[in-house]
Amino acid sequence: MRILLVEDDKMLADAISRALVQSAYAVDVVDTGERADEALAAHTFDLAILDIGLPGLSGLEVLRRLRARKSVMPVMMLTAFDTLQDRVKGLDLGADDYLAKPFDLPELEARVRALLRRGAGTTPEMSYGPLTFDTVGRRVFCAGKPVDLSARELALLELLLLRQGRVVSKEHLVNHLYGWGDEVGDNAVEVHVYRLRRKIEPLGCEIRTVRGMGYLMERLDEPQ
Ligand code: CA
Repeated sequence: MRILLVEDDKMLADAISRALVQSAYAVDVVDTGERADEALAAHTFDLAILDIGLPGLSGLEVLRRLRARKSVMPVMMLTAFDTLQDRVKGLDLGADDYLAKPFDLPELEARVRALLRRGAGTTPEMSYGPLTFDTVGRRVFCAGKPVDLSARELALLELLLLRQGRVVSKEHLVNHLYGWGDEVGDNAVEVHVYRLRRKIEPLGCEIRTVRGMGYLMERLDEPQ
């Protein structure tokens, strides 16, 4: 899942970004309203965390433009002053949640998870065959035992599970797995699919390559 973080306080942006990356989200950070507006118009994100007080365009204006483009992507607003006026304005412009500074990172992370779940229409636990994906603890279990996955493998599995029963295109995976700062080689997705496949096949799940279309999660015990 890919998150755009719009925050001009560099220390705060670094702290939030680090926490989210640790939870296996791809995070892009911009520090002005203009850059946020450009990024949101040009790229796909699963969520935006948007500070209201920004140099140039305010967070509220960025949000207004986003919704004017008919985007329904979840947005969480951050503000330095918890004023009723800002909160009402943000919600009326289509913000999904609101957090006043200073806040604790665990609360921000919990709200991020809730918004991503709502956006994807999923529950805190996703299951597939013998696998259970705990979206809160950011861990995967097979028949109750933890499965050892890298952050990228975890993120990849999450994307496949969110669309179980459907073919997930390579383009979708690239768009939701990597931020701008990530070095994405031509076959980066293939490499991660290969590694994840080797770990989950012995557990009874397969990632089938559908030529020219993408990847599909399958249970090995399922009739083809
Ligand atoms: Ca600010």
